[in-house]
Amino acid sequence: MTKTVYVDNNATTRVDDQVIEKMLPYFGEQYGNPSSMHSFGGNVGQILKQARKEVALLINALPEEIVFTSCGTESDNTAILSTLNSFPKKKHIITTRVEHPAIKNLCENLAQNNYRITFVPVDNKGRLDLDYLYDHLSDDTALVSVMWANNESGVIFPIQEIAAKVSAKNILFHTDAVQAAGKLPIDVKNVKTDLLSISGHKLHAPKGVGALYVRKGTRFSPFMMGGHQEGGRRGGTENVPSVIGFGQAAKLARENMADECKHMTYLRDRLENKIIRDVPNTIINGDTNNRLPGTSNISFEYVEGEAILLMLNEMGICASSGSACTSGSLEPSHVLRAMGVPYTAAHGSIRFSLSKYNTKEEIDYICEKIPPIIERLRVMSPFWHEK
Ligand code: PLP
Repeated sequence: MTKTVYVDNNATTRVDDQVIEKMLPYFGEQYGNPSSMHSFGGNVGQILKQARKEVALLINALPEEIVFTSCGTESDNTAILSTLNSFPKKKHIITTRVEHPAIKNLCENLAQNNYRITFVPVDNKGRLDLDYLYDHLSDDTALVSVMWANNESGVIFPIQEIAAKVSAKNILFHTDAVQAAGKLPIDVKNVKTDLLSISGHKLHAPKGVGALYVRKGTRFSPFMMGGHQEGGRRGGTENVPSVIGFGQAAKLARENMADECKHMTYLRDRLENKIIRDVPNTIINGDTNNRLPGTSNISFEYVEGEAILLMLNEMGICASSGSACTSGSLEPSHVLRAMGVPYTAAHGSIRFSLSKYNTKEEIDYICEKIPPIIERLRVMSPFWHEK
């Protein structure tokens, strides 16, 4: 059987064994409801409190500033809809052209419902046009939402600076830190963000759990109404095992971040150097001086990303492509289009995203398999011969 080399960690990560171990009792004998008055439930409530503290510590927040949600998407949606509800007269949102669909699709929907949305452009390295953002701030702006790091290119945005400028104008600021949390130090005491989204499954916790940081004093309007859970900010009994796993994963990420990032950076650079050396007409997309440690987005010119992925898949290598198959046509992703990556390169872009579990041997295995795959595909590509 072919071995599996998993390099799609921006899509999701393997749950850490220590996280699973911590969760297991809460599927079994410790099934109490954390909100119950009796001690059987109360004991679970105590562990949940501990998990909240750990998630808060990861971003240097207070435990009561953490609202557990079902995923990063819910956190993003809550941040935007809560703000619009809290400031009903304001009808303008500023975001970027490269946000995750959790922000992008909601904003596009709001644009059809009487809201004005400004999408800030990026340059060819995926860097934000900050002047454009600041020039569009107005009295009507309810919220500025800018991701901390991009899931496709890995490019990191200057959130500290943006949050300070936005907050100086008394406008709320939200950041989608789903890809940044656990990989970059985040300190909400130093960054003037009012709202911040994270997701468990990107940092070795299970899928289906996320958190929204809500700075103390921020106007908030719940998205999910129900019981008094999460301080009345999100009704519904918490997903106890997953929240407990999230807490453990946050603790591990905080304790080991520096070493893990060093490891991922080393592997990422090894991968890119070998590929650039061995495969002609390849381009590294994004600002290589300012990226997430484990994200590499590489364009192999004149070939289709989907074809590369299929061939990698046959060799057990799991990566993802920068194009999405929509209605039969292979459209490059909105991120690569926003960056102005030429079609011939955007079509053949592959995202490799690493984790603490990847090894040097796995990277060398990928580097050995890639050159013959690209060569084979280029022999068949009319664009390669016409270039
Ligand atoms: N935001 C970013 C930047 C992401 O990369 C993702 C997931 O890929 C999400 C939001 C959505 O997170 P979830 O899958 O937990 O809903």
